[in-house]
Amino acid sequence: MADILVVGSLAYDDVQTPFERRREVLGGAASYFSLAASLYGRVRLVGVVGDDFREDDIARLRARGIDVSGIERASGRSFHWSGRYDYDMSTAESLNTDLGVFEHWHPRVPDGMRDVPFVFLANIHPAIQLDVLEQIRSPQLVAMDSMNFWLDHQRAAVADVMRRAHVVCINESEARQFAQTFSIIRAAREILELGPTALVVKRGEHGAMLFMREQRGVGGGQSPPPTLFWSPAYPLEKVQDPTGAGDSFAGGLVGHLAANGQAGADELRRAVVHGTVCASFAVETFSVDGMEAATPDAVEARYEVLRSLVAIGAEALADAAPPPPRR
Ligand code: AMP
Repeated sequence: MADILVVGSLAYDDVQTPFERRREVLGGAASYFSLAASLYGRVRLVGVVGDDFREDDIARLRARGIDVSGIERASGRSFHWSGRYDYDMSTAESLNTDLGVFEHWHPRVPDGMRDVPFVFLANIHPAIQLDVLEQIRSPQLVAMDSMNFWLDHQRAAVADVMRRAHVVCINESEARQFAQTFSIIRAAREILELGPTALVVKRGEHGAMLFMREQRGVGGGQSPPPTLFWSPAYPLEKVQDPTGAGDSFAGGLVGHLAANGQAGADELRRAVVHGTVCASFAVETFSVDGMEAATPDAVEARYEVLRSLVAIGAEALADAAPPPPRR
């Protein structure tokens, strides 16, 4: 099992859905990611919190075996985000983003963490993502996430992060926004042309699409279409708070890749299913509670459910008589 380093927001969130509201709950991309990835192996978290960040919340991360020695405490307010969901419980409308101590923070990756092979650049200012990347010696795999807030204000820097990543994870609407197109396929092609080998487009309750750069050369001078894999979302009856679904997804995805030490096409497909499973735990409750309570056995059980959901079993094939050949 290879270690995973993550940098990203550690936050307090105010979340409203049409049904309920919670204030000042533990959130942040790095919190969700770490809790999910810690189901697979050792996570080292790099981030910053303000004076108001509760020691108990750091203890919750530590209790899951997450190395929190890379979390700095600075004077000022922690990152605060407030967002609202509509009845579809899909895309968040950001009502307020207060970067707090993240605004002027220059990350310092502790010496002992600079050789970490798997790196996840969770959602945060792209300059911080790049700064961390500069400090890592020779990562085997770099994955990244971003969001509309950064695409609105820092598009060129987000593109720079994409250029340096092997795996880009992004929401469907953000992929469209980035490439200025409605077509997800065209957006995928454009992002893959920047350099990553794989792109995951997260589609909420419609699952996630994995695009991989076609390795085989084809004639004709045209760039080949990206190879596609598509996982449905885990079928859930109860969705309380979609916040953190994407970060937890990334935790399952990178966690699985790090646990197996590789990122070939088959491993990436399995990793997308692991990501889907982790996202399902995150959305069942407010804040990180669902992700925190998840266990490797529960992950395995949901993985099997998803597998059977998309499998066309050998028996099913045997039962169905093949159609007669047409003349
Ligand atoms: P997700 O729902 O997976 O996209 O991530 C939600 C988490 O990201 C929340 O817990 C927020 O605290 C955090 N977040 C929201 N906006 C930003 C932003 N602009 N940069 C970094 N983190 C953010």
